[in-house]
Amino acid sequence: MHEMTIVANVLEIAHRQATAAHAARINRVVLEVGTLAGVEVESLRFCFGAARAGLSAHAELEIREVPGHALCPGCGATEDVSEPAAVCNACGRVMEISGGRELSVASLNVD
Ligand SMILES: [Zn+2]
Repeated sequence: MHEMTIVANVLEIAHRQATAAHAARINRVVLEVGTLAGVEVESLRFCFGAARAGLSAHAELEIREVPGHALCPGCGATEDVSEPAAVCNACGRVMEISGGRELSVASLNVD
């Protein structure tokens, strides 16, 4: 499962950072997920709950969704988009996705 691979990577990053900080446990992992990143938030939560262990055994997952955003290379118009393909309303050109593909650990809370 795609989401399980993502969660495994996220937990690996979290564990490495917590270990480097000599933390006893990870309380919370904040993840930024773009709405165009192609991941299921509910599935991420489920996988996180199943995969956490050791330092992260009681960690919470907080997900910050980043909205999709597109920029027109023709006229510079910007638009919020929910699909990875968009056409400019003003001039009809294909827009470039400028946000919403994020998938990264934004912060950690450890003790
Ligand atoms: Zn345009």
